[in-house]
Amino acid sequence: MPTVSDAAQGGAPLPFAEEASGSASGAAVADRIASSISLGLLSVGERLPTEIELAQQFGVAVNTLRKGLAELRDREIVVTRRGRTGGTFIVKAPFPSPEEVRERLRDTSLVDLRDLRDEHVAVGSAIARLAATRVWGGSIVRLEELAARVSAARTPAEAASADSRFHIELAVLAQSPRLLRSEIRIQSEIAPLHWTFSDFEQTQTIVASDHHDVIRAVMEEDGGRASLAMSEHLQHDGVRMMDAKLSIDPDL
Ligand SMILES: [Zn+2]
Repeated sequence: MPTVSDAAQGGAPLPFAEEASGSASGAAVADRIASSISLGLLSVGERLPTEIELAQQFGVAVNTLRKGLAELRDREIVVTRRGRTGGTFIVKAPFPSPEEVRERLRDTSLVDLRDLRDEHVAVGSAIARLAATRVWGGSIVRLEELAARVSAARTPAEAASADSRFHIELAVLAQSPRLLRSEIRIQSEIAPLHWTFSDFEQTQTIVASDHHDVIRAVMEEDGGRASLAMSEHLQHDGVRMMDAKLSIDPDL
């Protein structure tokens, strides 16, 4: 059976399939697929597996799966083309609108945001420590490539997706399916919150420098330093997230 790491590297099944199985509705299936895209685990231009394969992965009836795909088509996230070269293709990465992010920030207390940050620091620094002990040649090149994508991004949505992908790649490297699942879940919550309202270029610069520090420590197989560098990086993300909360909620 494929593992979560296979999924994050582009194999089957989709990373959220497991959670959606059983009594999942079409809308739940649509949400899982949308999350995989916004986290950069599936890319724009990519073709989804066949309906039968997807239905099996999600453990739902083909009919339910079709409802999910129909919803994604309505949201203009995928298009379905008929014919021999047909299939369902991803055409847009879903990212919450600034209004949606504002609402989320308004509905989340500072205490909850702090807790989210603390969880992320705990999970992320454990991942960085493990990754440093399990690193191999090609993985550094891949991490550097992903880090460069954050700097090359032109919009907060692109940067947030690339940023998430960097952290997920590190979690794949750590070889812990549980930590990987936690990182994926936290990234989907946190990335829009700290990218949407911050100064874009300044954030890109800080994130690039932080990621560089993490990569260097991982490359030198220094688990302690990798953990510390990641912890500092995620503290910076947390500060941006709380600044965003304070800026939209000045009464606090
Ligand atoms: Zn990051």
